[in-house]
Amino acid sequence: MNEQKIYDMVIIGGGPAGATAAIYAARAGLASIIIEQMNIGGEIVSTDRLDNYPAFPEGISGAEFGMLLQQQMESLDVPVEMTQVEHVTLEGEVKKVETISGSVAGKTVLIATGTEPNLLGVKGETELLGRGVSYCATCDAAFFRGKNVAVVGGGDAALEETIFLARFAEKVYLIHRRDQFRGCSWLQDKVMKIPSVEILWNTTISEIEGEKKVDGLKIKQDGQDRDLDVQGLFIYAGRKPKTGFLEGVEMERDDRGFIITSGKMETSIDGVYAAGDIRKKYLRQVITAASDGAIAATAAAQYLFT
Ligand code: NAP
Repeated sequence: MNEQKIYDMVIIGGGPAGATAAIYAARAGLASIIIEQMNIGGEIVSTDRLDNYPAFPEGISGAEFGMLLQQQMESLDVPVEMTQVEHVTLEGEVKKVETISGSVAGKTVLIATGTEPNLLGVKGETELLGRGVSYCATCDAAFFRGKNVAVVGGGDAALEETIFLARFAEKVYLIHRRDQFRGCSWLQDKVMKIPSVEILWNTTISEIEGEKKVDGLKIKQDGQDRDLDVQGLFIYAGRKPKTGFLEGVEMERDDRGFIITSGKMETSIDGVYAAGDIRKKYLRQVITAASDGAIAATAAAQYLFT
């Protein structure tokens, strides 16, 4: 019977955090494997442009960034298993990562699975998903050329995607529940300068209307009910950590489920690290995810070899 290979580091998630960890693991001589359910690059692949990463003065498209990361994994011979993790057993010297296609063993594990969108929780949201309701402007904006759309949210994602949507839609309503954005002032300034964007402050969505596709919104603006004529709604109401596979695992997390780590990316379980957006942290960006990955792999190498 073949003995199961035990990797030095099993990296769950192939976004900027996981991929950078693989680069640093390779440099430190660790045998690592990435388990990724979608594509190398993670969420950034569905972002129109990455404008705040050093050494790209003109920015770079999310898709190209992901492709370059993928090439880097290939040139380093990092194995990538495209599958979904179902459960993990993290205690003890050999940790097990159970996927829908089998089990992978490692002396250390890095959790770098990032986040997923929060639902708005209003009538019509799930019923009309893919039929006017979307969580990804970069994927779906082209379907709304010349139409009216709304974006909900007041963070960086809502602002960034409003700018992107304005290139396609006739009119973009940006709906925010307060009278102040949470997103950075640089993006706010850009949004305010686009003539086809109308900001609806102190506004919430009560219902997404439509039988087969979105044909309007019921909103409450400054306490007054109103109808909004839109054919699309893009939801950016924040994100939650992607940690379904950690169910039943005792690991220190904050009240929103983000993993608490030390400065060396150590979780509360020996030999288990977390990096990127999944962590409780101050700034969620590609650059800080990459930084976390580099630190985690370096700390794991030190853990294994000293
Ligand atoms: P976020 O910063 O958490 O913002 C979420 C927004 O959604 C907030 O404005 C919030 O309103 C609103 N919201 C939450 N629940 C809502 C609900 N039920 N109904 C209506 N509105 C709701 O999330 P994000 O914009 O997705 O960004 C996530 C992280 O990624 C952040 O750290 C962000 O900086 C980062 N990011 C960075 C970039 C960039 O640098 N280019 C781009 C995208 C994302 P309140 O403000 O009232 O709470």
